[in-house]
Amino acid sequence: MVERKGIIETGWNLDNSYARLPKLFFTNLSPTPVPSPRLIILNDALATSLGLNVQSLQSNDGVAVFAGNDIPEAALPLAQAYAGHQFGYFTMLGDGRALLLGEQITPQGQRFDIQLKGPGKTPYSRGGDGRAALGPMLREYIISEAMHGLGIPTTRSLAVVTTGESVIRETEQTGAILTRVAASHIRVGTFQYASKWGTVQELQALADYTLQRHFPEAAAGDNPYLLLLKEVIKGQALLIAKWQLVGFIHGVMNTDNMTISGETIDYGPCAFMDTYDPATVFSSIDAHGRYAYGNQPHIAAWNLARFAEALLPLLHHDESQAVKIAEDAISDFDELYHSNWLEGMRAKLGMFNQEQQDESLIEDLLGMMKKYGADYTNTFRALTFDKLEDTALFGTKEFAQWYEIWQDRISRQKESKERSYELMKSSNPAVIPRNHRVEEALEAAVKYGDYSVMERLLAVLACPYAYSSEQIEYSTLPAKSDRPYRTFCGT
Ligand code: AMP
Ligand code: MG
Repeated sequence: MVERKGIIETGWNLDNSYARLPKLFFTNLSPTPVPSPRLIILNDALATSLGLNVQSLQSNDGVAVFAGNDIPEAALPLAQAYAGHQFGYFTMLGDGRALLLGEQITPQGQRFDIQLKGPGKTPYSRGGDGRAALGPMLREYIISEAMHGLGIPTTRSLAVVTTGESVIRETEQTGAILTRVAASHIRVGTFQYASKWGTVQELQALADYTLQRHFPEAAAGDNPYLLLLKEVIKGQALLIAKWQLVGFIHGVMNTDNMTISGETIDYGPCAFMDTYDPATVFSSIDAHGRYAYGNQPHIAAWNLARFAEALLPLLHHDESQAVKIAEDAISDFDELYHSNWLEGMRAKLGMFNQEQQDESLIEDLLGMMKKYGADYTNTFRALTFDKLEDTALFGTKEFAQWYEIWQDRISRQKESKERSYELMKSSNPAVIPRNHRVEEALEAAVKYGDYSVMERLLAVLACPYAYSSEQIEYSTLPAKSDRPYRTFCGT
């Protein structure tokens, strides 16, 4: 058999189940070709796990796919339609600068969306150019892969190519395309779109598809749509707890940026908190702190209520009954989230069993961290090493008293101190993508074409719980600055 060279042998094995949904949910569309694609970074390990051949992906034919200049056999590119509440306001959105190529079926039989981010205009682009700039795409690559290393459900980054074109933002920037891999790109906003503009049959088709794809066991249950709601609530209660435990601030938790699969998506203005403060906000457009660190669980519950609203016609034929069912399900979120968070915090402090006072012990530590401006990650890291450097917090009498109570607490459990410290090591990252390190890597890459800084950073972030000597330099804090760190979205 003569195969199209470089395409088939690459290992692309695409299906298009999303394209079998009613037409309302997408627009078929090819990527807009670009003049001179160049591969900047390829995620070899991810490629291999998807059943793709790294060498072939690096060839001109392979790179042409990442650039949108060619499409793999069986790809059926499409832009997905969705809506969403952005900062509380409902809007029609959709893939304005993304195209789904199809779903890669891995050698293990798993299904992953392969999406190009930045392949040109779509019917949902509104005023935008449908393109992306190199800096933000590399930023998404770094942070999403760091999240994966931390063990947090996330979309992944397979490759970034430059296009040979400039994109105009505040300044002229290098154009780029990111290839994103996701369990799916179905969002709370996809359901809101179906609820607002689709028929009940179309909404049901989306719900059935989502059940089959993500929760096949629930699909067979008595009330599958209620189970769908409950599964999504469960997934988000776990995800947001994981964010809080590592100090991740998403920055733009609009309902279109909340997945049904429970993966973190959309790495626009996100950043990791350094000094512990629940009011921390990095995003330049989040003037009122709607998406502040401490507000993320509350916003997740708000978004889930929007999801439940969209599902109402499927929950019960009588609307008031449906509302009651939805409210009951949503009211579980706080408890689910809280128990995940508490379990995670116990692990961060080396606790295996549960004691009544644990939560107040944790809150006391967090309270002192805020009071003395302690770095969130490095405080837990120091406790894990049991090496309390000279910081404003560790020098206080208040902390010394807390430390003694904590030591007593962990010596009361049957597990040894060594096991406690092992648990802490696997629960407290020694490194996170520190803002100044990410900026340094991006500056070297975008300004000077030097990708080595980013590659070293990625290598360290791949194993955040290693506690290796190479990690030490990545845990130092930036020099004090008068200017707060700011992030931007939609760039
Ligand atoms: P985001 O802030 O990335 O969640 O994007 C919000 C909406 O704006 C989505 O519908 C995006 O597809 C759209 N969007 C963002 N950037 C662009 C762009 N450069 N061109 C067209 N649409 C865009
Ligand atoms: Mg988005």
